[in-house]
Amino acid sequence: MFVFPPSIRKIKAAAGLIEQALTQAGIETAALDARLLIEHVCLIDHAGFIASGDKELSDDQLSSLAALARRRMNREPVARIIGKAEFWSLEFSISAETLDPRPDTETLVELALEMIGTRRNAPLRLLDLGTGSGCILLSLLTELPNAVGVGVDLSQAALETARQNAMALGLDRRTQFLKSDWFSSLNGHFDVIVSNPPYIPQAEIDTLEPEVAFFEPRAALDGGVDGLAPYRLIFDKASSYLAANGMILLEFGQGQETDIIEIINRSPMKEQKCSFQLKADLQGINRVIGIEI
Ligand code: GLN
Repeated sequence: MFVFPPSIRKIKAAAGLIEQALTQAGIETAALDARLLIEHVCLIDHAGFIASGDKELSDDQLSSLAALARRRMNREPVARIIGKAEFWSLEFSISAETLDPRPDTETLVELALEMIGTRRNAPLRLLDLGTGSGCILLSLLTELPNAVGVGVDLSQAALETARQNAMALGLDRRTQFLKSDWFSSLNGHFDVIVSNPPYIPQAEIDTLEPEVAFFEPRAALDGGVDGLAPYRLIFDKASSYLAANGMILLEFGQGQETDIIEIINRSPMKEQKCSFQLKADLQGINRVIGIEI
Protein backbone atom coordinates (compact mmCIF):
# COMPACT_ATOMS: atom_id res chain seq x y z
CA MET A 1 0.00 0.00 0.00
CA PHE A 2 1.29 3.45 -0.87
CA VAL A 3 2.28 5.62 2.13
CA PHE A 4 4.87 8.35 2.50
CA PRO A 5 8.00 7.45 4.49
CA PRO A 6 8.78 10.00 7.26
CA SER A 7 11.67 11.41 5.22
CA ILE A 8 9.33 12.71 2.53
CA ARG A 9 7.64 15.98 3.49
CA LYS A 10 8.46 18.49 0.78
CA ILE A 11 6.16 19.02 -2.21
CA LYS A 12 8.82 18.24 -4.79
CA ALA A 13 9.90 15.02 -3.06
CA ALA A 14 6.28 13.93 -2.58
CA ALA A 15 5.60 14.57 -6.28
CA GLY A 16 8.62 12.45 -7.21
CA LEU A 17 7.49 9.54 -5.05
CA ILE A 18 3.91 9.62 -6.39
CA GLU A 19 5.21 9.81 -9.93
CA GLN A 20 7.33 6.72 -9.33
CA ALA A 21 4.42 4.80 -7.81
CA LEU A 22 2.05 5.76 -10.63
CA THR A 23 4.62 4.79 -13.25
CA GLN A 24 4.94 1.38 -11.60
CA ALA A 25 1.16 1.08 -11.78
CA GLY A 26 1.43 1.45 -15.58
CA ILE A 27 0.18 5.03 -15.79
CA GLU A 28 1.70 6.99 -18.67
CA THR A 29 0.80 10.43 -17.38
CA ALA A 30 2.41 9.82 -13.97
CA ALA A 31 4.25 13.15 -13.62
CA LEU A 32 1.24 15.22 -14.68
CA ASP A 33 -1.13 13.25 -12.46
CA ALA A 34 1.18 13.54 -9.43
CA ARG A 35 1.25 17.30 -9.90
CA LEU A 36 -2.54 17.56 -10.29
CA LEU A 37 -3.13 15.57 -7.10
CA ILE A 38 -0.73 17.78 -5.15
CA GLU A 39 -2.28 20.97 -6.54
CA HIS A 40 -5.69 19.66 -5.49
CA VAL A 41 -4.66 18.79 -1.94
CA CYS A 42 -2.66 22.01 -1.42
CA LEU A 43 -5.22 24.24 -3.20
CA ILE A 44 -2.55 25.66 -5.48
CA ASP A 45 -2.27 26.08 -9.25
CA HIS A 46 0.53 25.10 -11.62
CA ALA A 47 2.52 28.25 -10.85
CA GLY A 48 2.07 27.59 -7.11
CA PHE A 49 3.32 24.05 -7.56
CA ILE A 50 6.47 25.23 -9.32
CA ALA A 51 7.10 27.92 -6.70
CA SER A 52 6.56 25.71 -3.64
CA GLY A 53 8.77 22.68 -4.30
CA ASP A 54 10.54 23.13 -0.94
CA LYS A 55 7.39 23.75 1.06
CA GLU A 56 6.57 21.07 3.62
CA LEU A 57 3.23 19.29 3.59
CA SER A 58 1.27 18.88 6.84
CA ASP A 59 0.46 15.42 8.22
CA ASP A 60 -3.13 15.82 7.05
CA GLN A 61 -2.05 16.83 3.57
CA LEU A 62 0.35 13.89 3.38
CA SER A 63 -2.29 11.40 4.38
CA SER A 64 -4.92 12.85 1.99
CA LEU A 65 -2.36 12.83 -0.77
CA ALA A 66 -1.37 9.22 -0.13
CA ALA A 67 -5.07 8.23 -0.23
CA LEU A 68 -5.56 10.01 -3.58
CA ALA A 69 -2.39 8.46 -4.97
CA ARG A 70 -3.76 5.01 -4.03
CA ARG A 71 -6.99 5.77 -5.91
CA ARG A 72 -5.02 6.79 -8.99
CA MET A 73 -2.86 3.63 -8.72
CA ASN A 74 -6.15 1.79 -8.83
CA ARG A 75 -6.64 3.46 -12.27
CA GLU A 76 -9.34 5.91 -11.23
CA PRO A 77 -8.94 8.85 -13.65
CA VAL A 78 -7.32 11.91 -12.11
CA ALA A 79 -10.23 14.10 -13.28
CA ARG A 80 -12.67 11.93 -11.34
CA ILE A 81 -10.50 12.08 -8.21
CA ILE A 82 -10.18 15.85 -8.24
CA GLY A 83 -13.69 16.39 -9.70
CA LYS A 84 -12.57 18.64 -12.51
CA ALA A 85 -10.93 18.57 -15.91
CA GLU A 86 -9.46 21.05 -18.35
CA PHE A 87 -11.04 21.34 -21.79
CA TRP A 88 -10.50 24.10 -24.37
CA SER A 89 -8.28 25.74 -21.69
CA LEU A 90 -11.32 26.11 -19.43
CA GLU A 91 -12.03 24.35 -16.17
CA PHE A 92 -15.02 21.98 -15.98
CA SER A 93 -16.44 20.23 -12.93
CA ILE A 94 -17.23 16.62 -13.61
CA SER A 95 -19.44 14.23 -11.64
CA ALA A 96 -20.35 10.55 -11.55
CA GLU A 97 -22.76 10.85 -14.49
CA THR A 98 -20.63 12.97 -16.80
CA LEU A 99 -17.91 11.81 -19.15
CA ASP A 100 -14.43 13.14 -18.44
CA PRO A 101 -13.98 15.68 -21.28
CA ARG A 102 -11.30 14.43 -23.71
CA PRO A 103 -8.77 16.32 -25.80
CA ASP A 104 -10.13 14.47 -28.89
CA THR A 105 -13.40 16.31 -28.43
CA GLU A 106 -11.65 19.66 -28.85
CA THR A 107 -11.46 18.65 -32.55
CA LEU A 108 -15.24 19.02 -32.65
CA VAL A 109 -15.07 22.54 -31.21
CA GLU A 110 -12.35 23.43 -33.75
CA LEU A 111 -14.32 22.15 -36.74
CA ALA A 112 -17.49 23.91 -35.55
CA LEU A 113 -15.59 27.22 -35.38
CA GLU A 114 -14.05 26.62 -38.82
CA MET A 115 -17.47 25.93 -40.32
CA ILE A 116 -19.08 28.90 -38.54
CA GLY A 117 -16.34 31.01 -40.12
CA THR A 118 -17.40 34.61 -40.58
CA ARG A 119 -20.67 34.09 -38.69
CA ARG A 120 -18.86 34.13 -35.31
CA ASN A 121 -20.63 37.27 -34.16
CA ALA A 122 -24.06 36.22 -35.41
CA PRO A 123 -26.87 35.46 -32.91
CA LEU A 124 -26.52 31.71 -33.52
CA ARG A 125 -28.69 29.13 -31.78
CA LEU A 126 -26.68 26.11 -30.63
CA LEU A 127 -27.83 22.68 -29.50
CA ASP A 128 -25.65 20.08 -27.75
CA LEU A 129 -27.15 16.57 -27.64
CA GLY A 130 -25.90 14.55 -24.65
CA THR A 131 -24.19 17.55 -23.14
CA GLY A 132 -22.68 15.77 -20.10
CA SER A 133 -20.46 18.33 -18.36
CA GLY A 134 -21.51 20.86 -21.01
CA CYS A 135 -17.92 21.10 -22.22
CA ILE A 136 -18.66 21.33 -25.96
CA LEU A 137 -21.53 23.80 -25.74
CA LEU A 138 -19.88 26.04 -23.16
CA SER A 139 -16.53 26.11 -24.98
CA LEU A 140 -18.31 27.17 -28.17
CA LEU A 141 -20.24 29.87 -26.33
CA THR A 142 -16.99 31.37 -25.02
CA GLU A 143 -15.95 31.82 -28.68
CA LEU A 144 -19.33 33.02 -30.02
CA PRO A 145 -20.22 36.15 -28.08
CA ASN A 146 -23.78 36.54 -29.40
CA ALA A 147 -24.80 32.90 -29.50
CA VAL A 148 -27.19 31.11 -27.15
CA GLY A 149 -27.33 27.39 -26.52
CA VAL A 150 -29.42 24.52 -25.29
CA GLY A 151 -27.78 21.43 -23.80
CA VAL A 152 -29.82 18.28 -23.38
CA ASP A 153 -29.07 15.07 -21.55
CA LEU A 154 -30.97 12.06 -20.23
CA SER A 155 -29.22 12.37 -16.89
CA GLN A 156 -30.57 14.90 -14.42
CA ALA A 157 -27.30 14.73 -12.49
CA ALA A 158 -25.30 15.56 -15.62
CA LEU A 159 -27.59 18.54 -16.28
CA GLU A 160 -26.88 19.83 -12.77
CA THR A 161 -23.14 19.61 -13.42
CA ALA A 162 -23.52 21.36 -16.78
CA ARG A 163 -25.54 24.15 -15.13
CA GLN A 164 -22.84 24.59 -12.49
CA ASN A 165 -20.20 24.81 -15.21
CA ALA A 166 -22.24 27.39 -17.12
CA MET A 167 -22.53 29.46 -13.96
CA ALA A 168 -18.81 29.21 -13.17
CA LEU A 169 -17.94 30.36 -16.69
CA GLY A 170 -20.43 33.24 -16.55
CA LEU A 171 -22.49 31.69 -19.37
CA ASP A 172 -25.69 30.87 -17.48
CA ARG A 173 -27.69 33.66 -19.10
CA ARG A 174 -26.92 32.30 -22.57
CA THR A 175 -27.64 28.63 -21.80
CA GLN A 176 -30.53 26.39 -21.01
CA PHE A 177 -30.16 22.77 -19.90
CA LEU A 178 -33.06 20.39 -20.45
CA LYS A 179 -33.75 16.75 -19.81
CA SER A 180 -34.43 15.18 -23.18
CA ASP A 181 -33.95 11.87 -24.98
CA TRP A 182 -32.07 13.34 -27.95
CA PHE A 183 -34.64 15.61 -29.64
CA SER A 184 -37.73 14.43 -27.68
CA SER A 185 -38.26 17.59 -25.55
CA LEU A 186 -37.11 20.08 -28.19
CA ASN A 187 -38.91 22.52 -30.45
CA GLY A 188 -37.64 24.99 -32.99
CA HIS A 189 -34.61 25.23 -35.18
CA PHE A 190 -30.91 25.46 -34.48
CA ASP A 191 -28.03 26.89 -36.49
CA VAL A 192 -25.44 24.56 -35.02
CA ILE A 193 -26.15 21.12 -33.59
CA VAL A 194 -23.23 19.35 -31.91
CA SER A 195 -22.88 16.03 -30.16
CA ASN A 196 -20.33 13.61 -28.83
CA PRO A 197 -22.72 10.67 -28.53
CA PRO A 198 -21.83 7.35 -26.88
CA TYR A 199 -20.19 5.34 -29.68
CA ILE A 200 -18.51 2.30 -28.15
CA PRO A 201 -19.96 -1.04 -29.27
CA GLN A 202 -21.42 -2.60 -26.10
CA ALA A 203 -19.23 -5.71 -26.12
CA GLU A 204 -16.04 -3.63 -26.38
CA ILE A 205 -16.57 -1.49 -23.29
CA ASP A 206 -14.93 -3.98 -20.95
CA THR A 207 -11.85 -4.22 -23.17
CA LEU A 208 -11.09 -0.48 -22.89
CA GLU A 209 -8.44 0.92 -20.57
CA PRO A 210 -9.44 0.56 -16.89
CA GLU A 211 -9.87 4.34 -16.48
CA VAL A 212 -12.71 4.18 -19.00
CA ALA A 213 -14.15 0.68 -18.52
CA PHE A 214 -14.45 0.90 -14.73
CA PHE A 215 -14.86 4.60 -14.02
CA GLU A 216 -16.66 6.36 -16.87
CA PRO A 217 -20.49 6.34 -16.77
CA ARG A 218 -21.72 3.48 -18.99
CA ALA A 219 -24.50 5.59 -20.50
CA ALA A 220 -21.86 8.00 -21.83
CA LEU A 221 -20.03 5.19 -23.64
CA ASP A 222 -22.59 2.59 -24.73
CA GLY A 223 -23.53 3.05 -28.40
CA GLY A 224 -25.55 -0.17 -28.65
CA VAL A 225 -24.52 -3.40 -30.37
CA ASP A 226 -22.50 -1.77 -33.18
CA GLY A 227 -21.80 1.56 -31.47
CA LEU A 228 -23.86 3.43 -34.05
CA ALA A 229 -27.35 3.44 -32.51
CA PRO A 230 -27.19 7.13 -31.44
CA TYR A 231 -26.22 8.24 -34.99
CA ARG A 232 -29.30 6.49 -36.44
CA LEU A 233 -31.55 8.24 -33.90
CA ILE A 234 -29.89 11.63 -34.39
CA PHE A 235 -29.89 11.62 -38.21
CA ASP A 236 -33.45 10.37 -38.31
CA LYS A 237 -34.59 13.66 -36.74
CA ALA A 238 -31.80 16.21 -37.22
CA SER A 239 -33.02 17.73 -40.47
CA SER A 240 -36.30 18.88 -38.87
CA TYR A 241 -34.36 20.80 -36.22
CA LEU A 242 -31.78 22.52 -38.45
CA ALA A 243 -32.27 26.15 -39.43
CA ALA A 244 -31.58 27.33 -43.00
CA ASN A 245 -27.79 27.17 -43.53
CA GLY A 246 -27.60 25.08 -40.35
CA MET A 247 -24.91 22.58 -39.57
CA ILE A 248 -24.51 19.46 -37.49
CA LEU A 249 -21.23 18.12 -36.14
CA LEU A 250 -20.73 14.79 -34.47
CA GLU A 251 -17.75 13.08 -32.91
CA PHE A 252 -17.30 9.37 -33.68
CA GLY A 253 -14.96 6.46 -32.93
CA GLN A 254 -12.03 5.24 -34.99
CA GLY A 255 -13.15 3.81 -38.33
CA GLN A 256 -16.86 4.61 -37.95
CA GLU A 257 -16.99 7.30 -40.68
CA THR A 258 -17.99 5.03 -43.58
CA ASP A 259 -20.93 3.60 -41.63
CA ILE A 260 -21.98 7.06 -40.47
CA ILE A 261 -21.98 8.42 -44.03
CA GLU A 262 -24.13 5.44 -45.01
CA ILE A 263 -26.54 6.23 -42.15
CA ILE A 264 -26.76 9.86 -43.34
CA ASN A 265 -27.44 8.74 -46.91
CA ARG A 266 -30.36 6.63 -45.74
CA SER A 267 -31.79 9.30 -43.44
CA PRO A 268 -34.12 12.25 -44.14
CA MET A 269 -30.93 14.38 -44.25
CA LYS A 270 -30.27 13.10 -47.78
CA GLU A 271 -33.27 15.11 -49.05
CA GLN A 272 -31.44 18.29 -48.14
CA LYS A 273 -28.63 19.50 -50.31
CA CYS A 274 -25.79 19.00 -47.92
CA SER A 275 -22.02 18.82 -47.93
CA PHE A 276 -19.90 17.20 -45.31
CA GLN A 277 -16.35 17.28 -44.07
CA LEU A 278 -14.24 15.13 -41.78
CA LYS A 279 -11.62 16.36 -39.33
CA ALA A 280 -8.88 14.25 -37.77
CA ASP A 281 -7.74 14.47 -34.14
CA LEU A 282 -4.14 15.11 -33.04
CA GLN A 283 -3.26 11.45 -33.69
CA GLY A 284 -4.42 11.83 -37.30
CA ILE A 285 -7.51 9.65 -36.73
CA ASN A 286 -10.75 10.91 -38.30
CA ARG A 287 -12.80 12.01 -35.31
CA VAL A 288 -15.52 14.46 -36.33
CA ILE A 289 -17.98 14.82 -39.19
CA GLY A 290 -19.54 18.20 -39.96
CA ILE A 291 -22.51 18.49 -42.29
CA GLU A 292 -23.88 21.74 -43.68
CA ILE A 293 -27.28 22.05 -45.27
N1 GLN B 1 -20.75 16.08 -24.44
C1 GLN B 1 -19.98 15.51 -23.38
C2 GLN B 1 -18.53 15.39 -23.77
O1 GLN B 1 -18.18 15.46 -24.92
C3 GLN B 1 -20.53 14.14 -22.98
C4 GLN B 1 -20.43 13.14 -24.08
C5 GLN B 1 -20.89 11.76 -23.65
O2 GLN B 1 -21.26 11.56 -22.50
N2 GLN B 1 -20.85 10.82 -24.56
O3 GLN B 1 -17.69 15.21 -22.95
